[in-house]
Amino acid sequence: MHMHDILNRDKTIFGFEFFPPKTDDGWDGLVSRLHTFEALEPSFVSVTYGAGGSTRTKTHDLVCHIAANTSLDPIPHLTCVGHSKQEITTILQSYQEAGIDNILALRGDKQQGGATPQDFAHASELVKEVRAFAGKSFGIGVAGFPEGHPETPNRLVQMDHLKAKVECGVDWICSQLFFNNNAFYDWVDRCDVAGIATPTLAGIMPITSIAGMRRMAELAGGANFPAKLQRRLYRFQDDADAVAKIGATWAAEQCADLLDNNVRGIHFFTMNKSTATEQIYSSLGALSGSKLRNSH
Ligand SMILES: Cc1cc2nc3c(=O)[nH]c(=O)nc-3n(C[C@H](O)[C@H](O)[C@H](O)COP(=O)(O)OP(=O)(O)OC[C@H]3O[C@@H](n4cnc5c(N)ncnc54)[C@H](O)[C@@H]3O)c2cc1C
Repeated sequence: MHMHDILNRDKTIFGFEFFPPKTDDGWDGLVSRLHTFEALEPSFVSVTYGAGGSTRTKTHDLVCHIAANTSLDPIPHLTCVGHSKQEITTILQSYQEAGIDNILALRGDKQQGGATPQDFAHASELVKEVRAFAGKSFGIGVAGFPEGHPETPNRLVQMDHLKAKVECGVDWICSQLFFNNNAFYDWVDRCDVAGIATPTLAGIMPITSIAGMRRMAELAGGANFPAKLQRRLYRFQDDADAVAKIGATWAAEQCADLLDNNVRGIHFFTMNKSTATEQIYSSLGALSGSKLRNSH
């Protein structure tokens, strides 16, 4: 379903993010868990893409599997760094043929070495390319960074870049993960000051392990890990179950507060596991996902 229609249908949008597993075991595990995610009735699910095309086939295969075999509505991530315009067109054609309606358009992190095509420098150029695609009018989402993107320390300039990207024809923004809602609220306010009125989804990542938190800190450069959260986690660092429970509880508190503040949507970075997302839904009192999406 095109994001315009999802936005019209759901008062609050819920998205779940998956990554394409590298191994057959990982694939089987995720595929066997898809029905658990279906039961939570998200507005959509998204599938990440390895910058430079490293997961090109796997992302496409997982998106097509979800579309053909489940009630979930998959949105592929697509990064432009290292791709030629022709490659991007071919990928868009394949999603058009598979009946996919939306693309999350990203730049991806710059690749080390190698002679790769330089057709795209920024995600805004990918947005223009997807917008210009003759085959279909895809719904287009982009990334936003409440706590800043490391490459643009000047936050005013960063907002200029976000505004320019959005003006290329963007339907929704999905935020980078954050653990302090005030950072998100202030960023949404700053978007408002900059004249960006695009619907914005809050990125929420339940921490499931200390090692996972450290990996995340590496991937999501700029994200803050509040001292209070770290104290709670490190207090029980030798107890894996307790750490996972603390991570899910923190994320659930964030979600409850976001809903209280009328957030337009929440995007869960699930890491392909359903337990934390189920715990969060249950703590929100959600008997059904569709009720949660449409409650006031
Ligand atoms: C929700 C979400 C999903 C993601 N999914 C993936 C994924 O599937 N695969 C993956 O590899 N990565 C993914 N990422 C990570 C993302 O690709 C990286 O964070 C990347 O560094 C920035 O991508 P972007 O699309 O925001 O790029 P851009 O919008 O191009 O911004 C990148 C940097 O360039 C600056 N900039 C933008 N325009 C200009 C300009 N005209 N001149 C100078 N500077 C400019 C920006 O301020 C920013 O600092 C995701 C991130 C988020 C938040």
